[in-house]
Amino acid sequence: MRGLYVHIPFCRAKCGYCDFASAPGAPGEIDAFLGALAAESARYDALAGGFDTLYVGGGTPSLLSPEQLERLCGIIETLTGPLESLRESTFEANPESLDAEKAALLKRSGVSRVSLGLQSTQDRLLRKLGRIATPEDFLRAYGQLRAAGFHNINADLMCGLPGQSLKDFADSLDWLLALKPEHVSFYALEVHDGTPFAAAGVNEEPDAAAAMYEAGAAALGLAGLRRYEISNFARPGRESLHNLNYWDQGEYLGLGPAAASYLAGERRANTASTADYVRAASAGDSIPLQYSEKLEGRAKNAEKIMLGLRRTAGIELPDDIFIEFKGELDRLLQAGLIEKSGSAIRIREDRLYVSNAVFREFV
Ligand code: SF4
Repeated sequence: MRGLYVHIPFCRAKCGYCDFASAPGAPGEIDAFLGALAAESARYDALAGGFDTLYVGGGTPSLLSPEQLERLCGIIETLTGPLESLRESTFEANPESLDAEKAALLKRSGVSRVSLGLQSTQDRLLRKLGRIATPEDFLRAYGQLRAAGFHNINADLMCGLPGQSLKDFADSLDWLLALKPEHVSFYALEVHDGTPFAAAGVNEEPDAAAAMYEAGAAALGLAGLRRYEISNFARPGRESLHNLNYWDQGEYLGLGPAAASYLAGERRANTASTADYVRAASAGDSIPLQYSEKLEGRAKNAEKIMLGLRRTAGIELPDDIFIEFKGELDRLLQAGLIEKSGSAIRIREDRLYVSNAVFREFV
């Protein structure tokens, strides 16, 4: 499996908690970015036709105009071939910038899956987060995707928000489940340095988030969405193939600012500066990198374990890796954080929300 990730670094406004490479962009900036993206794609001619999945994220890909979306799909198809020939192709969208025309265009272009941001159904919480769309906007956009023929929709929810009660979270989830999405991702709020939330002294709420994780997982299970990764739930057969490839330590190429790649044992990430990215790609210069490193030996095996443990099914480990990490694995088994069955290990279901404590052993 090999995936292609394309990062669109534009949003209508910046959310208070967001540390992704994204910012509001004028139409001219988006056109210049698409020119740079075409130039970067052309450097990977040798990989053309070798992709199984596509994920267009950001940022807010649905912010692009219909003409820009068509141009974007054309650029991507120089590497992937027709989008409908891929095993999966996902576009992220936010309700405020999605409409019936764009939904139909994405469907016509061969996109098979859309991930739509909801986060919460409480207006007061959405305002605190700096989100633009209301639940009514989400409902409209969701209906437009269904009307366009999308049968594979993910919705994002957040938990552990300041001022969010367990009932707020449960109400949001019930509201969403009534729409019968095929996939739900939910994430606890993390406050990252450099964000407006960090500057305002907003605190994470780990205990409240843990309770919401537990309640949310139970409600999703009852609704027929099985947890297959720490934060991801799907109806059978609707798991994200693109993300499963990440957790299987498969290869992927990332295009655009901040996009990460893992190819031929090397991982690297482009500069997070859209201006630097556009300048370099358009001039034919090397794109500045945030990092580039060969992943091998113990570091490669440690990452294999960490990625595999994200999946609820866990990971099968060959004997040599078991021996290499015997100390770490024994400590985690004794602490009751992971369980072992034959040559497979996994995080205990009731410990998934403290998975960071498990991963710290391997960093
Ligand atoms: S919509 Fe998403 S990417 Fe854009 S600012 Fe908000 S959280 Fe960040």
